[in-house]
Amino acid sequence: MQIINDPAEMQKTAENLRLKHQLIAVVMTMGALHEGHLSLVRIAKQKAGTVILTIFVNPRQFGLDEDFHRYPRPFEKDAAMAKAAGVDYLFAPDAELMYPEGFETQVCTGDVASRFEGIKRPGHFNGMATVVLKFMMTSKAHLAIFGEKDAQQLAVIKRMVSDFNIDIQIIEAPIVREEDGLATSSRNIYLSSQEREQAAVLYRSICHAKELAAQGTTETEKILAEVTALIDSAPDTKIDYVGIVDPETFAETEKLDANGKYRLLLAVWIGSTRLIDNGILELSLNSD
Ligand code: AMP
Repeated sequence: MQIINDPAEMQKTAENLRLKHQLIAVVMTMGALHEGHLSLVRIAKQKAGTVILTIFVNPRQFGLDEDFHRYPRPFEKDAAMAKAAGVDYLFAPDAELMYPEGFETQVCTGDVASRFEGIKRPGHFNGMATVVLKFMMTSKAHLAIFGEKDAQQLAVIKRMVSDFNIDIQIIEAPIVREEDGLATSSRNIYLSSQEREQAAVLYRSICHAKELAAQGTTETEKILAEVTALIDSAPDTKIDYVGIVDPETFAETEKLDANGKYRLLLAVWIGSTRLIDNGILELSLNSD
């Protein structure tokens, strides 16, 4: 595995790979690698001959009061995990090389990015989309794998790729969870052991909502009320938002339709750690 820090070198390397007719897949992360990230790498390896993993804690997608400075950066461990997973190139650029003096152009995201995370984290999606576009340009990848864990991010990226005619295929990967259902996340290490136990309520409430939908509950207000009550009943939790949305536009839905597919979104504070999760809701076929 080769480690590259300079975007120009990454781009030149990628161009050489393309000249040799290599199919390139990219997996973009902020590091502190876990099973969720590795599942993306595995998909990348199945689909392409060359896998590029990016690790970059992007300052432009963090708010001033967020955890940019304390975000975990275990680079040596990450590099060992990436190598063991069969990554070919680990691209871990320096912020100064990504955003040199004079850098000023940003992706301006639209409607999909304006809701939920977009409201709670102003500027987040513009910063994220900008760095994702830079990684697409520098990795010259044919395929990019993203996790459904960050469902709104995925929808924003798909919109950008379509709107800008970017020549890359986006592949969606399912959410990897711990045994009790908590989605694996680099931020889970912030949780105390008691908070870690409480955090399982996110997945329990997703399962409950799925059940309600499968039993034929069409009113999203009713589903959200039960989800809210369940989360509120766990100590140390504070809901940031819950919502049921169209999975492409992220517009809120009032009533589930038998032919539709919807996404339940959760953002919950567990103590001082903010976790997001989501799950697909579908009415059972025999419900009215
Ligand atoms: P991050 O390092 O948190 O920015 O995540 C990098 C990529 O890994 C994104 O595409 C995430 O959606 C994906 N990812 C993070 N956690 C998980 C998970 N538990 N399951 C599947 N994909 C994940």
